[in-house]
Amino acid sequence: MNQRTHSLGMGAWIGVGFIVVLALMVALGATGLRYVAEANQRLKDIAQGNNVKTELATVMHSALRERALAMHALPILADPFEKDAEVLRFNSQGTIYMGARERLESMPLSREERRILAHILELTREAQPEVQAVVEMAIFNDDQQEIFERIRSVAMPRQRAITEQVGVLLQLQREQTAAAMRNAEASYARVRNLMLGLGTLALMMGMAIAWIVSRRVTRQAEQLATQAMYDPLTGLANRALLHNQLEREIEVSKRTHTSFGVALLDLDRFKEVNDTLGHYVGDELLREAGQRLKEAVRAVDTVARLGGDEYVLLIHDLNPKNLPVIAKKILACLDKPFHWKNQSIDISASLGVSLYPAQCSDANGLLRCADIAMYAAKRAGKDYALYTPELDHSNCSDLSLKSELREAIQSNQLSLHYQPQIEHRGKRVVGLEALVRWNHPQRGFLKPDQFIPLAEEAGLIGPLTLWVLEAALSQLLSLQQKGYDLSMAVNLSARDLQDMELPDRVLNLLAGSGVAPQRLTLEITESAVMANTSDALAVLTELDRMGIKIAIDDFGTGYSSLAYLKRLPVDKLKIDKSFVMDMENNDNDAVIVRSTIELAHNLGLKVIAEGVETRAAWDTLTILGCDSSQGYLMGKPIPADKLEIWLRESAWSRVSTTALYAP
Ligand code: C2E
Ligand code: MG
Ligand code: MG
Repeated sequence: MNQRTHSLGMGAWIGVGFIVVLALMVALGATGLRYVAEANQRLKDIAQGNNVKTELATVMHSALRERALAMHALPILADPFEKDAEVLRFNSQGTIYMGARERLESMPLSREERRILAHILELTREAQPEVQAVVEMAIFNDDQQEIFERIRSVAMPRQRAITEQVGVLLQLQREQTAAAMRNAEASYARVRNLMLGLGTLALMMGMAIAWIVSRRVTRQAEQLATQAMYDPLTGLANRALLHNQLEREIEVSKRTHTSFGVALLDLDRFKEVNDTLGHYVGDELLREAGQRLKEAVRAVDTVARLGGDEYVLLIHDLNPKNLPVIAKKILACLDKPFHWKNQSIDISASLGVSLYPAQCSDANGLLRCADIAMYAAKRAGKDYALYTPELDHSNCSDLSLKSELREAIQSNQLSLHYQPQIEHRGKRVVGLEALVRWNHPQRGFLKPDQFIPLAEEAGLIGPLTLWVLEAALSQLLSLQQKGYDLSMAVNLSARDLQDMELPDRVLNLLAGSGVAPQRLTLEITESAVMANTSDALAVLTELDRMGIKIAIDDFGTGYSSLAYLKRLPVDKLKIDKSFVMDMENNDNDAVIVRSTIELAHNLGLKVIAEGVETRAAWDTLTILGCDSSQGYLMGKPIPADKLEIWLRESAWSRVSTTALYAP
């Protein structure tokens, strides 16, 4: 938002800049044109005026010359008619001269012109009587010699003085025209310089604006490039940049004949954190995990986030021999719990590694191989795995397993093992947990961890759950009919809780089997309840209303509070085996087990412990007041056909068979 306002402000300034430059250019153009027009007009006026004046002065000049010629001709001519004609010419040139002079006087004149004209007038006035007298003498007197003498000594000097002044006038006008030209040129030069100056200024402003705009555009382009190359949440490289780095690394490794590794890392319980503690905490965790990963590798190595909780590490110069050490180092950085307010969050991760050039030779291939290795690590319950071509096959076999699973559910390849649940107080078996197995025709017995995730992915969990429920209920009924007073626990998957039809289906199965709903416990993991709270709550409420017991499985591994669980229709908490198995050696786990039992009892819930492998654990749980337990100490999951033998013969199976349970 801030960025947007800023860029709007900049845009406005750039707009203002353009308008100013434009206005300046227009004003400049207009002023320049006005100056040019004015100078032009002035020049025209001066030129026109001077032309007329020069013409008039020239007329005066030639009239004087004509009069002088007429004066000289008069004494020579003998014919009186010719003399008259010459006198006429003399007089008419006088008229022309006067006319021209008067017109000149009526024009706008400079002071100097006026002074010269006044002087000419004065000279003319002085000369006029004498010249007139000489002319008359030339008409009436025959003494040529005397006349010529008078013309030379009296008339011509006067006449010359006037002609001289007219010449001065002409010269002055010539000078004035030249000065006007020079003025006009100077005017032009001034306008040109002004235009040039302002033009340069406008150009500089334009260039400044262009510079600002281009800098802004470059910066925005850089920002876009950064956004396009980095993950905004963690600041780590994103998929696009990782791809570039991978391509570059491949080029370098080709030249230098070195190898490098691509490690794909996936946080194991991130979704749970997000769902239970909220996205804000999830984001913080992703940021910190990214930071820790960066610190765990060398500065030259690249850490990228592909999205979600997936990170990729590009490890330069990786020698496969060093892989275990490096993988441990990477995973160790996530071992330390993350802290959010007073809560400490444990996160683990799975790592898959592929090597260049040993396994794949292109960027996509390397990422795909690392992905396959990572899933293999997850499946095998290991924290890291290096890609091998065999993993490809097991990946393909996942696909074939999915289609075989559909078949398996229908053709009874699935079977149930039952693990006894023993009550501490009465030291007797009170229930069984049904645990599904797949007797695969080629692969032998498969454990639920190997195919339940596939069933979830393939949308087969619904039919699988119904199959388990039906088989478990029919087993329970058969045991009841033989006098065993037991309850049956069946595991639900998170997906089952999204199925709003589930309560009806369970009701139908119960009705069909004739088992009382109170004898059925449905186990849901803590994370499954938290993951989709509103749907899960509706389904659980309905199941509870039907009288079915609900147990929270693997309790302690999620982040739900007991207070929150109390609001759910829950009857029992099943403490996760990881705490129980470690209870004797790890004080933290012992505290968790003790406080869970106490708090659950305070909230009116029953507690069952799983993973009891030692007598010491059993005894501790008895002292802590745990209601019941299951574990290898009392009994491993037992195949259906061996169940009755166990119930009859095991030391833990003091089952009351006195009263036959009537459904
Ligand atoms: P769970 O419900 O927590 O089941 C307990 C698991 O712990 C079982 O593994 C059991 O064999 C094992 N276990 C029991 N006692 C001990 C012990 O003392 N020590 C040790 N180390 N392990 C012990 P299993 O049968 O492999 O089942 C694994 C998980 O698969 C189950 O965990 C459950 O979440 C899931 N699962 C099993 N059957 C079904 C099913 O029918 N439907 C669904 N949705 N999930 C199932
Ligand atoms: Mg269970
Ligand atoms: Mg469990």
